[in-house]
Amino acid sequence: MAGIESLGLDSDLIRVEPRDATTDELISAHNTTYLRELAGACEQGTAPDPDTYLTSGSLSAAIRAAGAGLAVIDALRAGAGDLGFVVVRPPGHHASANHAMGFCLLNNVAIAAAMLTEKGERVAIVDWDVHHGNGTQDIFWDDGRVLYISTHQARFYPGTGRLLDKGGPDALGSTVNIPLPAGATGDVLQRALVEVAAPVVEQFAPTWVLVSAGFDAHRDDPLADLMLSAGDFALLAREVARFAPRSGRLALFLEGGYDLGAVHHSVAATFAELLGASLQTEPATSGGRGDEVVAMARRIHIEPREDALW
Ligand SMILES: [Zn+2]
Repeated sequence: MAGIESLGLDSDLIRVEPRDATTDELISAHNTTYLRELAGACEQGTAPDPDTYLTSGSLSAAIRAAGAGLAVIDALRAGAGDLGFVVVRPPGHHASANHAMGFCLLNNVAIAAAMLTEKGERVAIVDWDVHHGNGTQDIFWDDGRVLYISTHQARFYPGTGRLLDKGGPDALGSTVNIPLPAGATGDVLQRALVEVAAPVVEQFAPTWVLVSAGFDAHRDDPLADLMLSAGDFALLAREVARFAPRSGRLALFLEGGYDLGAVHHSVAATFAELLGASLQTEPATSGGRGDEVVAMARRIHIEPREDALW
């Protein structure tokens, strides 16, 4: 919020009142047995894994976080704004249909995407968090109404997100993973979006674009080893905004980010770019590793289609 406030948006910033997600909304992405187990675990404070801290207040916080995403989507559907930012904790992209992990209890972006698909929408989710969004991938693995694209650090928590994972038999090609080596810089992620994501998104033709916007790929982040600057997130945001079919069909969901200064400056740079506000920020980075992964991802996702034309 400090990053957003630094932009001085004044009355151009609309604060959407969060609400609780309903059970029907939660079960669009999670199964009922899991929701019961989660409620029990929160009541007893039993953590599902050493990372994932729980207290008696965690369930209501997670339900409110999921509902906040839905409230933002509702506001955009009603024409209230140009784009949304869901600034919530706990984050969501590691939570699968039946499992909490990696600080995540309910998958906020997946619940929002599932509710949109129930209204007939086609949703592209771009996940630039440094970790692979295994939960989101799992939930939509065999669902061709949702395109899931992730850039993440390779051979890293949670260990999923391989290049060759492309989706289930009914949704082949609807999962796109670009696992980048430690040391990758912003230019490599941008190339991944321009050269791999953009043509896949164009073919998919989403009616909504949601972003799992973690800021832990920043070079100052203590948990990971990608080398992005705040200025790089602005460039990624510019590319992703082009994926949305029109104004009011883009929402960013906060995921990870563990250096508060990096999160602050990256959020400010991202939204300055998206809103056309002026901001002095860290310069973009280049020259890191990972180009060969982008080339391989192109061979897997783009070139087979080009070959098929002949
Ligand atoms: Zn993360």
